[in-house]
Amino acid sequence: MAFDSSRPLGPATRAIHHGYEPADHENALTPPLHLTSTFAFPDAETGGALFAGDAEGHIYSRISNPTVSLLESRIASLEGAEAAIATASGMGAISATLWTLVKPGDEIITDETLYGCTFAFMRDGLSRFGVKITHVDLRDPEKLAAAISDTTRVVYFETPANPNMRLVDIRAVSDIARAVGALTIVDNTYASPLLTRPIELGADFVLHSATKYLGGHGDLVAGIVCGRAEPIQDIRMIGVKDMTGSVMAPFNAMLVMRGLKTLQLRMQRHCESGQKIAEWLEAQPSVSVVHYPGLPSHPQHELAKRQMDGFGGMIAFELDGGYQAGIDMMNRLQLIRRAVSLGDAETLIQHPASMTHSTYTEEERAAHGISDGLIRLSVGLEDVSDILTDLERALA
Ligand SMILES: *Cc1c(COP(=O)(O)O)cnc(C)c1O
Repeated sequence: MAFDSSRPLGPATRAIHHGYEPADHENALTPPLHLTSTFAFPDAETGGALFAGDAEGHIYSRISNPTVSLLESRIASLEGAEAAIATASGMGAISATLWTLVKPGDEIITDETLYGCTFAFMRDGLSRFGVKITHVDLRDPEKLAAAISDTTRVVYFETPANPNMRLVDIRAVSDIARAVGALTIVDNTYASPLLTRPIELGADFVLHSATKYLGGHGDLVAGIVCGRAEPIQDIRMIGVKDMTGSVMAPFNAMLVMRGLKTLQLRMQRHCESGQKIAEWLEAQPSVSVVHYPGLPSHPQHELAKRQMDGFGGMIAFELDGGYQAGIDMMNRLQLIRRAVSLGDAETLIQHPASMTHSTYTEEERAAHGISDGLIRLSVGLEDVSDILTDLERALA
């Protein structure tokens, strides 16, 4: 951007302006939407040069598209990464990345808590192709140090983890992984780049379900992976172009860019309301535990203060009455929507054991810290007093 500043632009400014100059596009304030599948070569030689990698430009929208490229450069900038590749969904980002990086005989060490479909992709998908999956409680980096070996290719985790809000020390884990030549991948969906920037802390890749906070309006499904330019190009040409075909549509890139413009404002509100609701829940006699990194009672509150610039809008809690009390409470809500997904303007509530994490067996859920009574709340952007009134009525 043609803006003379002695210091780097802040994240809210980059989320709005990065990589775009109206003067280059008929002075259009909003970047154009390039609804095109393919790109016409000025002559055959140029087409050949593009395919050979000797010229820069777009060839076909399964490889790249100008609207999608602009979104990629904006999110890469927010994450402090060299490059990014956008995908059709968060699972597209996860599967394209892992298909690109691992081969039979490699090991992936992953946390005990994972989003349900990521867990199933590793257990039922990758393991069928000779990739070894080892779950380690990554809250304790010593346990990783004991388990890791030179067959470990990837260390993969979420922080805060979906759904139980456990945190992983990104710097400590990345240091241990790097020492044996393993790559660290962080699913940063819960925090967003406004609250945590894993690459600054030593991670190799950071990925998102852009369906959640980045899009922020519950109107699309999308994903993105950020990292160094060369491996991101490999993910583009292998994992996305050939192995999954998981491409982001230009129209969705435009909607995610619209979402990004308010990301900082939205995250501020999610954090403020999240803290208030977590504190309120903790004071309710019928609530036995509240898992929220902004509460001093969270066992990793000190790490949260060090690693996060705010504690976000995701809360997990358990009721004294267990599973049935949770179901009954959810059914009494009038404003809060019973829905999976998260990071939307609407406050959403769901029950991981029967919904997002039903891909785990009962034994796996017990072993991996996802109790049957756990309720997950995605605090939205409504007036916090209205969210509290709805919760109060439902808990009464
Ligand atoms: C939703 C989610 C995903 C999957 O993303 P989709 O966009 O639904 O494919 C992956 N990781 C986390 C933490 C999520 O919440």
